[in-house]
Amino acid sequence: MTARDQGGVAPDRFLAATHEVFNQSTELADYNLYAADRALQEAVAREGAASAQAGLLEFGRRIGAAGYLELGRLANQYPPEFEPNDRFGHRTDLVRFHPAYHALMRTAICEGLHASPWTDPGPGAHVARAARYYLHAQIEAGHGCPITMTFAAVPSLRLQPELAAHWEPKITSRAYDPDNRPAHEKAGVTVGMAMTEKQGGSDVRANTTRAYPVAAPGPGQPYELVGHKFFVSAPMCDLFLVLAQAAGGLTCFLLPRWRPDGSKNPMQLQRLKRKMGNVSNASAETELRGALAWMVGEEGRGVRTIIEMVAMTRFDCMIGSSAGMRMATSQALHHCSQRSAFGRLLVDQPLMKNVLADLALESEAALALTMRIARALDDRAQEHEELLTRLCTGVGKYWICKRAPQHAVEAMECIGGSGVMEDSPMPRLFRESPVNAIWEGSGNVQCLDALRAIRKTPAVVQAYFDEVARARGGHAWLDRHVEQLKKELRASPDIEYRARDLVDRMATILQAALLAQHAPHWMADAFCRSRLDGLGHHQFGALPAGVEFDRIIERAMPRES
Ligand SMILES: Cc1cc2nc3c(=O)[nH]c(=O)nc-3n(C[C@H](O)[C@H](O)[C@H](O)COP(=O)(O)OP(=O)(O)OC[C@H]3O[C@@H](n4cnc5c(N)ncnc54)[C@H](O)[C@@H]3O)c2cc1C
Repeated sequence: MTARDQGGVAPDRFLAATHEVFNQSTELADYNLYAADRALQEAVAREGAASAQAGLLEFGRRIGAAGYLELGRLANQYPPEFEPNDRFGHRTDLVRFHPAYHALMRTAICEGLHASPWTDPGPGAHVARAARYYLHAQIEAGHGCPITMTFAAVPSLRLQPELAAHWEPKITSRAYDPDNRPAHEKAGVTVGMAMTEKQGGSDVRANTTRAYPVAAPGPGQPYELVGHKFFVSAPMCDLFLVLAQAAGGLTCFLLPRWRPDGSKNPMQLQRLKRKMGNVSNASAETELRGALAWMVGEEGRGVRTIIEMVAMTRFDCMIGSSAGMRMATSQALHHCSQRSAFGRLLVDQPLMKNVLADLALESEAALALTMRIARALDDRAQEHEELLTRLCTGVGKYWICKRAPQHAVEAMECIGGSGVMEDSPMPRLFRESPVNAIWEGSGNVQCLDALRAIRKTPAVVQAYFDEVARARGGHAWLDRHVEQLKKELRASPDIEYRARDLVDRMATILQAALLAQHAPHWMADAFCRSRLDGLGHHQFGALPAGVEFDRIIERAMPRES
């Protein structure tokens, strides 16, 4: 007799099965990200891209497959690696990425996320692209960096027409070619951006990189650049827009990774940054050792030239952070609709309903603002839309990106301890969440830019108030807060101190106005009553009594209806 038998312990077959796994949620996979997103479908139709619906439906199904979602995880689990030289000692500046990263890049480029409004402009072009980008960014955020920069470079490059004529066909091509070889051998190229130096990122006027003309100086002419850039993301891009000091001041240049003669252009990578987020994407410190580059735009007007690119990257930050919030909301809702505690599904516990509904509100408000700006980009020929773009891209970028980290933390908490574990998607969403707020103009810089736009072009304020006036009468609190904001926006000596408060309120009032016009009345009511009081929104999950929790949750649930 064995010791176990003597002790009356259960037979081996029972001991091997020590426990049953129950009350766990499942992987959120094999679902159609577009079909399961009612707010997105409505926004696409409302903002002028109804004709894109069928394509979005097919795209949403394709990228929601379990195997595709896995690409996002793999691209971050195996970060890029830097190889300065080949094994024979030749300088290569090669960054190797996991195949999953390349697969994501290939999809993004084949789908035109880097270019479709430039190649197929027209009604709804930016809206359709924004919707597609929003879906793809939910799978993985890091690859979005080179996709955005490639997209955003085009308006700046067009300021130098002969360079644009030469490069734009390859930039907007739907061919993804990650090989480390000269651009003239490739069917498609990607574009990065190198502005930031050690001594100054926000204040690029502090740049010390110098530009020396190779022969005649001036726009479109070749120069050699000497200096250092402290952050260059996606360093395997084929081209970079770079700021450097020419004789006439800070100027924009286009720098290829390889020279036209096929030799390596000496923009040498020194090392890759060790980042807490945006891990799948490489960001490098680089030395410019006489790197060949062509002047873009007027000499001494570098900021003016590159700001065209920066404006577009700021818009994409809105899309990216809205996408992160949507995925976090979906994960939280999916989990809580399967997990029980204290005898009820979490989604049926009153306090959890409050948290989930609040997360859903924030996510839909972010989307509504993003898609409204997408339509403004489509209709820039109209003065109102142009003015709205000028002021509200920065306002929206600041606000949505600022909301993302707290949103991510709350969504993670909905999942409990397993939400903290690296095999859950939540840590990746969380680590990604602060990044958009910091690059492309950190919070304070955005708010000061908004004040500058108001000072320089007072018509932007009128456009803003005309826009929110479209919701007049939609909610009493909203009307009251609009009047209050009008008073507070008047110039005063302390306005710079108050810039964040003002921009916070401009953003939430605009979101409230959009929801009041376009969302179900109970969404708009919950948003206004939780976000517009004197002190703004504090913690998620503190929505006031009387909110239609169940309807908000049902609307946001990631399932087809
Ligand atoms: C992951 C990652 C990738 C990046 N990739 C690139 C890239 O590809 N190319 C590139 O050029 N750069 C890149 N950057 C750099 C990024 O754009 C800068 O970090 C950013 O612009 C801020 O500059 P800084 O780091 O020098 O901070 P600083 O400019 O020193 O700012 C520090 C803080 O001071 C605040 N501040 C600045 N001025 C004022 C003011 N007047 N009043 C009040 N507050 C102020 C800012 O808002 C910020 O909070 C990247 C950054 C990150 C994190």
